[in-house]
Amino acid sequence: MSDRPNKVVIDEELCKQCELCVVVCPVHALRISDRINTKGFHPAELYEYDKCIMCGFCAMTCPERAIAVYRPEVQKA
Ligand code: SF4
Ligand code: SF4
Repeated sequence: MSDRPNKVVIDEELCKQCELCVVVCPVHALRISDRINTKGFHPAELYEYDKCIMCGFCAMTCPERAIAVYRPEVQKA
């Protein structure tokens, strides 16, 4: 995965496991992970990388501002 450009980056420490991003994603690319952050929440993760269309809905929806979406045209080489 490291050789692929970032699409969705989730700050796991900010996530409060509300699942709004999971629900809003139109292609079901997100899920709640098995990991636990220091606050005791299971953070969301992008598990269907190839499905993600970088629409940004998850980032716009997250109440904790824990998600950043990167589009290829704005990424540096
Ligand atoms: S950017 Fe869009 S398609 Fe990608 S994970 Fe977020 S809501 Fe889903
Ligand atoms: S919307 Fe934000 S706080 Fe809620 S589960 Fe997704 S990343 Fe976590």
